[in-house]
Amino acid sequence: MTTRSETKTTLAHLLTEIERRNPAQPEFHQAVHEVLETLAPVVAARPEYAEPGLIERLCEPERQVIFRVPWQDDQGRVQVNRGFRVEFNSALGPYKGGLRFHPSVNLGVVKFLGFEQIFKNALTGLGIGGGKGGSDFDPHGRSDAEVMRFCQSFMTELYRHIGEHTDVPAGDIGVGGREIGYLFGQYRRITNRWEAGVLTGKGPGWGGSLIRPEATGYGNVLFAAAMLRERGEDLEGRTAVVSGSGNVAVHTIEKLTALGANAVTCSDSSGYVVDEKGIDLDLLRQIKEVERGRVDAYAERRGASARFVPGGRVWEVPADLALPSATQNELNEQDAAALVRNGVKAVSEGANMPTTPAAVHLFQQAGVAFGPGKAANAGGVAVSALEMAQNHARTSWPAARVEEELTRIMNDIHTTCHETAERYGAPGDYVTGANIAGFERVADAMLAQGVI
Ligand code: NDP
Repeated sequence: MTTRSETKTTLAHLLTEIERRNPAQPEFHQAVHEVLETLAPVVAARPEYAEPGLIERLCEPERQVIFRVPWQDDQGRVQVNRGFRVEFNSALGPYKGGLRFHPSVNLGVVKFLGFEQIFKNALTGLGIGGGKGGSDFDPHGRSDAEVMRFCQSFMTELYRHIGEHTDVPAGDIGVGGREIGYLFGQYRRITNRWEAGVLTGKGPGWGGSLIRPEATGYGNVLFAAAMLRERGEDLEGRTAVVSGSGNVAVHTIEKLTALGANAVTCSDSSGYVVDEKGIDLDLLRQIKEVERGRVDAYAERRGASARFVPGGRVWEVPADLALPSATQNELNEQDAAALVRNGVKAVSEGANMPTTPAAVHLFQQAGVAFGPGKAANAGGVAVSALEMAQNHARTSWPAARVEEELTRIMNDIHTTCHETAERYGAPGDYVTGANIAGFERVADAMLAQGVI
């Protein structure tokens, strides 16, 4: 039997080799490192997981597609962007994961997101594999017509790689209901098929599930509530800091408010707003979703309770809870130290990998309940899988039924992570619990299906 320390050494060598074979992909290295460093207890305890090649296969995407996306802007100039789809692992079901449109998107970012997605999707228990995609296209400041032409060009290549039984994209940063509509329209036109299950996050009138837009934010708050419950506490009366002002942030603020907490911040890449009366969601949505404006406009229009801090970070605002909901590595060690100094009790990741490894370590050392994104933000993909089920059955469930399922799934994920961490000698460590529980499900399926 291999010991834990021998296993750790083997995993460390593996990581070095993965870094060597995938140069200049720091986000991918970080995501793989975060998973591999927690797997030693389970690999040491179950010899079948030490089988040569299993973890190497898990860290190598099944397929990676990179393509040119040419389109014309409103002045008639030709623009060229790069499109990506990484189909990472289909042992548990069709590849599933969002599309991100943001200038920072490159292959390493898409691979980090796809890798995370494998474990997240496994944790939902819903039979979906892991994938991710996107483009370095920046929708900010583009007209609807430009966004439409871009989406049509993007889908003109992507359509040949996806399908309801193959690969099912959804939204992510920069891809919301508008973009999913344009993408779905072009897919339908090219294929001449009504294949609703090929994309999720659709509009409710044409195959979308109710509660899908809300699901990631709502699910994250449910996960935070479950972590607090485990410690005999609850959300009522708590102050929360939330970063971002997009889909995840808005619905996080909505659910926090509904459960009696006070969400006092939101942000975008220009800075943050703090509103001591609590964020007024109607105003925020008007500015961000209708006018597609910036958060400084919120402070201007809200009055005395709110102020805008240009270039600042929400983590300097004292709070009981922190819910990062913007992007990767947005909460570093200094931010974590400030939150701990101000008495934060729980941190729950709405975004993917928003907390740097040093910051995670600091929270864990300080005894702060820390919910990693692959567990805490799994509500979005879970309801996407429910949307696929509704599409397959040509039916549409009432909102109450979807929300009930979401609540059950988030509580199950919490219990699974909590119990798994305890079983492997890391009580209260949701990072270890999520990684091991997700890994076990995928690894078991891969072993059963042979070397492919
Ligand atoms: P949106 O595009 O709706 O919103 C993103 C928000 O984050 C915006 O406020 C944006 O500000 C801010 N942001 C993005 N990039 C940066 C950056 N580099 N620096 C500072 N701020 C930034 O995206 P979502 O809300 O859908 O996604 C947010 C996070 O949640 C992402 O990490 C995503 O992967 C994750 N996630 C999303 C799911 C979903 O269902 N949508 C599911 C699971 C996870 P600005 O407009 O200034 O760029």
